[in-house]
Parts: sequence; C-alpha cells; structure tokens
Amino acid sequence: MSASLGLFRLQQIDTQIDRAKTRLSGIQKTLENDKELKAVHTRFETTQSENQNALLAAKNAEAEVDAMKIKIEQVEASLYGGVVKNPKELQDLQKESASLKKHLVTLEERQLEAMLLSENAGIEMEKAQNDLELVQARLGNEHKKLFDEQNELVKHMESFVQEREAALAPIEIPLLSSYEDLRKQKRGVAVSEVEDGACASCGTTLNAALQQNARSQKLAYCPSCGRILFAK
Ligand SMILES: [Zn+2]
Repeated sequence: MSASLGLFRLQQIDTQIDRAKTRLSGIQKTLENDKELKAVHTRFETTQSENQNALLAAKNAEAEVDAMKIKIEQVEASLYGGVVKNPKELQDLQKESASLKKHLVTLEERQLEAMLLSENAGIEMEKAQNDLELVQARLGNEHKKLFDEQNELVKHMESFVQEREAALAPIEIPLLSSYEDLRKQKRGVAVSEVEDGACASCGTTLNAALQQNARSQKLAYCPSCGRILFAK
C-alpha cells in the first residue's frame, strides 16, 4: 500500500466537505439578501407612502372646497336674507361673494388635480403590490428548493465528519500536519492523483521514478506544484 493512500482518502473527504461548506454559505447568502425581492419590496413601500400622501392631499383639497362652499352660502344668506338693507353693506357682500366664488374655482381645480394624482398613486401602488406578490410566489418556490438542498447538505456534512474521523485514524500525526499545511497553501488540495503519468492537479508529466514513488511506502511530491502524489 502506498504511504499516500490514507492522505488521499482524507483529501477526498475534505474536498467534499469544502464543497458542501461553500455551497451552504452560498445558499445562506441567497436566502438572506435577495436583491430582487428587496427591490420590489422597496418600490411597494415607496408607492404605498406616496399613495397615502396623495389620499391625504385629496382629502385636504376636498375639505377646503367644502369650507369655501359653506362660506359662500353664509355670505349669500346675508346678501339675500333681507336682514342687511344698507346698500354699501350689500355691495360689499356682493363683492365678497364674487371673490369667494372665484377662489372656489381655483380650489376645485386643485381638488381635481389632487384626485387625479391620488388615482395614479393608487394604480402605481397596485402595480407594485402585484409585482411584489409575483416575486414572492416565485422566490417562495426557489427558496423552498434552497431549503431542501440546505437540509440535504447538512445531512451529508454529518456523514462526511464521521468518514473523516475514520480516515484520520491510520494517519500519523506529523504526516497529518504537513497535509494540513499543504492544504492551506494549495487552495485546499494537498494530495494529487497521478493520472496518465501526470499530476492531476497541475498537469505536469511525472517521470517513471516519481510515479513509482507515488505507489511506494515513501511520500512523493509533484516537482511542479509541490503536492503529495498518490498513485494506485
Ligand atoms: Zn502537480
């Protein structure tokens, strides 16, 4: 049996653990901050508050029109009620009534404008709400898939950890620490398989002696990438 067999088995398990960890953190990130969902949610909140403001403005405009109408009624009641008889006073009331009516026209125009704005704001809000519901429904599906995948990966991780324990048992401590050091230096891959006479990690062709060593009781290292070589 080659000296590197145990390390190669450990490497295979560690690679699976690394992949599972990377995927798990990717899933976590996706679930935590979905840009699309955030964007439609923000738009809905904006249109919602714009709609509330527009409704309030329309109500205020209506109240101003109503108040003005009451004022006009009061002035006209005095004007035509027969109580006021003084011509100067009657003339003043007539002027006031005309001026108030003119102002009423302006207020009614403002009210119409406010109503139109409010109507549009309502339509925009409904659109945004629809979009939000659509994205929520679709992501609900995608998120469910991600949750399922997450559960599967967590289960796999548990069995990987057990397999790792078993793979660790026959490996001597000094060998293990150089394996760990190499893993840190070589982006997680410390042991490379010999495939078709070459290092599977970097592709360097290995001479016959090196290939023989990779099968022997001694450790052999790739002359190019420095990884431990394993050959069946
Ligand atoms: Zn190599």
